[in-house]
Amino acid sequence: MVATAAGSSTAAIREPSREVRVVRQTDVLVVGGGPGGVASAISAARSGAKVVLLERYGHLGGMATGGLVNAIPNLATLEGEQGIAGICQEIIDRLVAKDGAHVPEKRSWGQADKKVVDFYLDANYSFFYLRKHPVDGSFRVVYTCLADPELLKNELNQMVLEAGVDLFLHSWGARPIMEGNTVQGMFFESKSGRQAVLAKVVIDSTGDGDVFAAAGADYDPAPRPGLRISNLAMGCWIANVDIARRNAFRAEQPDRYAELMKQAGRRQTSDALGKWMIEVIGANTLDNLFFQDIVPNHDGVLTLQPHLPCKDQTDVEEMTRVDVEARQLLVDCWDFCRKNVPGFERSWIMLTAPQLGTTGGKRVVGEYTYTEEDLAADRVFEDTICVLPNNDTQLMAVEHPYLFVPYRTLVPKDVEGLLVACRGFSSSEWINNLWNLIPHCMCYGQAAGTAAAMAVDAGCRVRDVDYKSLQSKLRRQGVILPETMA
Ligand SMILES: Cc1cc2nc3c(=O)[nH]c(=O)nc-3n(C[C@H](O)[C@H](O)[C@H](O)COP(=O)(O)OP(=O)(O)OC[C@H]3O[C@@H](n4cnc5c(N)ncnc54)[C@H](O)[C@@H]3O)c2cc1C
Repeated sequence: MVATAAGSSTAAIREPSREVRVVRQTDVLVVGGGPGGVASAISAARSGAKVVLLERYGHLGGMATGGLVNAIPNLATLEGEQGIAGICQEIIDRLVAKDGAHVPEKRSWGQADKKVVDFYLDANYSFFYLRKHPVDGSFRVVYTCLADPELLKNELNQMVLEAGVDLFLHSWGARPIMEGNTVQGMFFESKSGRQAVLAKVVIDSTGDGDVFAAAGADYDPAPRPGLRISNLAMGCWIANVDIARRNAFRAEQPDRYAELMKQAGRRQTSDALGKWMIEVIGANTLDNLFFQDIVPNHDGVLTLQPHLPCKDQTDVEEMTRVDVEARQLLVDCWDFCRKNVPGFERSWIMLTAPQLGTTGGKRVVGEYTYTEEDLAADRVFEDTICVLPNNDTQLMAVEHPYLFVPYRTLVPKDVEGLLVACRGFSSSEWINNLWNLIPHCMCYGQAAGTAAAMAVDAGCRVRDVDYKSLQSKLRRQGVILPETMA
């Protein structure tokens, strides 16, 4: 035993070593089953690799399901040209076929159709479905998907299993297994105790960079305060709201409604984030506070998502503080509305997000770090693996409508056997703030999974994967790359 000053935060104790059972030896191990991890696992398995996927909770989807963050936005540009397809589009198609998602009709993408625009403004979904065009000032419809999180959980299970992935839910990746600077697998914890999976390639899709940080990779720490990605959040659904009554009140007494929303929502979003939303979107989303759920059959449901600043989104004491504070805020807000706002009288809090909302965190230092200069220069790389629409930078979005993200942003500089396919990809803070979203992480995952399978097949390091073959495989999977753009 080392120091033992009981109660002191500097105390330390040595854990005894032990034998750990290796439950699988596989080609590719994906740690984390969020948007990045699911796409990684599916694409690696479809590319012929033996794949194990570890997820700490009992469902897949990460923030997109457990965080109640169900908008998959910015799939096309302000002009309506699609940039993101591949596995992300496949998931959307499967959900739409089951009435499990809302998407705008294709002919309205990039258009200023008043009827469609008014529909999204009315539902307060301007943040996801509309952008004010910086040149002509009109609202344009953005191709975005709003998904039913429960159907999404099931669909992701089915897709992963159909691809042949060996799925471990309730399994918390605890520590990478290292040989020198090479990751060779992962110890994980579950109700079955501590076990291990050995793998030729590991993909860190934990969102938080749990694997790359513990493997000794160089990384940028938590983002600066004031950015979207520096907040913890808690999503919540309020059900049985009489929307027609609420809307009538809002139409008859707009100033009173806005004042009540301000009172209900005080302290819900950091000032900097609120200002950014108003600047970029061109509509005062916060004045309306709630998003009205527009997924088929979700009538009478409103979504609320307070974002709270915190020092570190992976510090358990900060997570506990924010969880308690956010829950109280949600209850206070609902209670205030129930007592003061017509339409809320018989409402109830149906669900708070099972997972605390984590917006950003550590960013790995990769072989290449994508920055705002790359965007401003419209840089297309020899290893471009996805084409991401840029809708959130006002005039710059018109001048530079796409990001062409290189594969090297997923490859840690100084660790072998590891790829990073999640919001921890190698990027500047500014880029990460806007392009670490669900569809983006699915793109990184689809590329990482395909590359991992190629590395296993070729017996080479992940950093030596042939870029041209990777791109041609991705194109065959329906991924849009510079050569295939309209
Ligand atoms: C409140 C809020 C609102 C947002 N709004 C939107 C939005 O509208 N649209 C959008 O596209 N994005 C939005 N985002 C951002 C988006 O949700 C995330 O950036 C995105 O989900 C990142 O995907 P990921 O795969 O990197 O990580 P995550 O979604 O965080 O998934 C990581 C997964 O890994 C698992 N995991 C973590 N650690 C371990 C471990 N050690 N072992 C095993 N499993 C582990 C987690 O349980 C989780 O399933 C929002 C985020 C928040 C918090």
